[in-house]
Amino acid sequence: MSTVQVERLVKDFDDATHVLKGIDLTVRDGSFTILLGPSGCGKSTLLRIVAGLERPTAGRVLIDGVDVTDAEPSERQVAMVFQNYALYPHMSAFENVEYGLKVKRVPKAERREMVEHALELVDLADQAKKRPSEMSGGQRQRVALARAIVKRPGVYLMDEPLSNLDAKLRGQMRESISRLHDELGSTFLYVTHDQVEAMSMGTDIVLLHEGSIAQEGTPREIYQEPASTYAAGFIGAPPANVLGIEDGFIAVRPEYIALTEPEVPAVALPATLTAREQLGDSTIHSFATPLGDVRAKTPCLWDAECAANTRIFLPLSALMCFDAQGKRVAPPENLERLVRARVAA
Ligand code: ADP
Ligand code: MG
Repeated sequence: MSTVQVERLVKDFDDATHVLKGIDLTVRDGSFTILLGPSGCGKSTLLRIVAGLERPTAGRVLIDGVDVTDAEPSERQVAMVFQNYALYPHMSAFENVEYGLKVKRVPKAERREMVEHALELVDLADQAKKRPSEMSGGQRQRVALARAIVKRPGVYLMDEPLSNLDAKLRGQMRESISRLHDELGSTFLYVTHDQVEAMSMGTDIVLLHEGSIAQEGTPREIYQEPASTYAAGFIGAPPANVLGIEDGFIAVRPEYIALTEPEVPAVALPATLTAREQLGDSTIHSFATPLGDVRAKTPCLWDAECAANTRIFLPLSALMCFDAQGKRVAPPENLERLVRARVAA
């Protein structure tokens, strides 16, 4: 059992005020909760406050209902995994994982069992004797994970642990960490700016925006029902197209845009092709339109000619609507007319 609660959390630094602006958050027991947002939005600061590495200016942190706001990191049932592994270079993988247990004077036989079990969980049982310099980045990060596992924390705190790895390794590590979460059944609180990591690993996503929570939900909720233009424009690869109309905005995901007239009701936009990116599995087309730049994603069209001046189609059922402040609203009755009026203007 490990929940984390954060209540009205505020953080000011001397030269950076309102880094966190009153965060209220409950991290469910056993969840894989992602703190997601662009660089500088306060993710690491929030995680460090939960870890006890940083004091809040105001507000409380509770772990399993106990107020730990003033507790030392070692007094909290948490283990932190960083981006830059922080392994001892002169020690083997085994010794790196064992070190904390030695300091705590865990008896040798017990230590051995715990380290072997942890290395097995991260698929490094056969690499125990290697030093960090003899391992790949992904293996080093798995040693860092094993070092957290032997602490048997209730909550694992991870700050962009994959950002030093190349794309292929990141993909493999996403799978490894998801599996580890399932096997351990512990609570994970994981910071990333990468919405792919958030979507693929998280059970819960907390989207941050300039020190406040913009939206909380499952990956599916955040993807299908973004609460704001900010959420719509952050999630997705590429993210949703956010376009201004009278008194508000519409957003449409690139994969719902049709390049030929669909059978469902749709608004046509005159469009000029400005770029085309061939990704093998898909093609990303960039268009200039009267509503602004629009990106459309289709199955890969290697050879298809696309006229420079064409029309693209936004199915009405795929349009998400927002008010002038960017907050999600129900589609107005006259949505189609509003969009057409804007196109004609
Ligand atoms: P993120 O992890 O989302 O990129 P951070 O939590 O690291 O964001 O930082 C949020 C903001 O707080 C940034 O503007 C950063 O410059 C500022 N900040 C973070 N740590 C400190 C610090 N120790 N002193 C002063 N400002 C800080
Ligand atoms: Mg950070």
